[in-house]
Amino acid sequence: MVSLKEVLGPLWSAAKHVFAKPYTYKYPYERVPSALQENYRYDPKAGIAYPGSKGRHLLRLDKCTGCSLCDIACQNIAEAITMVYAYDVVLEMPERAYSELGKKESPVTGAVDLLMEGFNRYVTEDHRGGFSHPVMPVLVNLKNVSKTDSGYVLKLNSDAVWANRLDLLVRDYFEDSFRAMITRGYEVRIAKDESPDRVLYELIKDDVTLVLRVEKRNMNIPVNKKSYFPMVDYGRCVFCGFCVDACPFYALEMTPDFELSSTSRVGMVYNPIALSGPKISTAPPSTNPIDAIMGWLRRKTS
Ligand code: SF4
Ligand code: SF4
Repeated sequence: MVSLKEVLGPLWSAAKHVFAKPYTYKYPYERVPSALQENYRYDPKAGIAYPGSKGRHLLRLDKCTGCSLCDIACQNIAEAITMVYAYDVVLEMPERAYSELGKKESPVTGAVDLLMEGFNRYVTEDHRGGFSHPVMPVLVNLKNVSKTDSGYVLKLNSDAVWANRLDLLVRDYFEDSFRAMITRGYEVRIAKDESPDRVLYELIKDDVTLVLRVEKRNMNIPVNKKSYFPMVDYGRCVFCGFCVDACPFYALEMTPDFELSSTSRVGMVYNPIALSGPKISTAPPSTNPIDAIMGWLRRKTS
């Protein structure tokens, strides 16, 4: 025989909790309070690690020497770090070819469109229009054009294009464009190979020759003359902090920035400029309106 107390006791307990403040948080509508809003840092001279959150890295470009020790430390952990150079991609053309730019059916317009397609594959929706991530090409317009004695030069990227090797950059960004050009009657050939610093391709069709020049950019960092920096893939990183411990030049820290979700694989890769800047990651969106209302109520009442 069940007593009345045994029936009402659990009901009363449940009723009390309906009005109690919940212990769980409706993220992303509510921020989870964190005791550690400090960066995780390591002092190599003193041999002391300072407690802090191990979220997204902060790279101090002016201190990074490009020594690769962070990369080596990560090799046996997650292989999340790739050391990369900064590159620029420019298209040189004679004056006659420049006058054809924008005209439909022109081989100049066709070549520029195909090259930009190669670039645009790597601009993800979540970073379009905002940040170099890993490359933010600028559509060809007069601001990116300069006049030279022999014609015009179009710069196809604004921020640096980051890659570990020149041939890998060409493979990732332009191999498909070159293949498409060849099927449309262009001749594509290497005009000058000064790897690993520079390579020039000639793109020829209908007596028009365009020169695609891919070359290393000098980032003007005195301690890092090669402009060689770490890039982190957050699809691999396990946030262990070993790379921070390995840096002898106080160039690497980890921050409380943990909202690193992305709608694309390439969006998880943070280039050195992204790592050196302020928080750019955002909370993931939720589609549940009840969560939004509950989060708003909680913020109002807490
Ligand atoms: S924190 Fe990430 S990038 Fe650094 S060593 Fe660990 S796994 Fe590699
Ligand atoms: S972040 Fe530190 S360890 Fe990594 S390359 Fe730069 S100076 Fe070397």
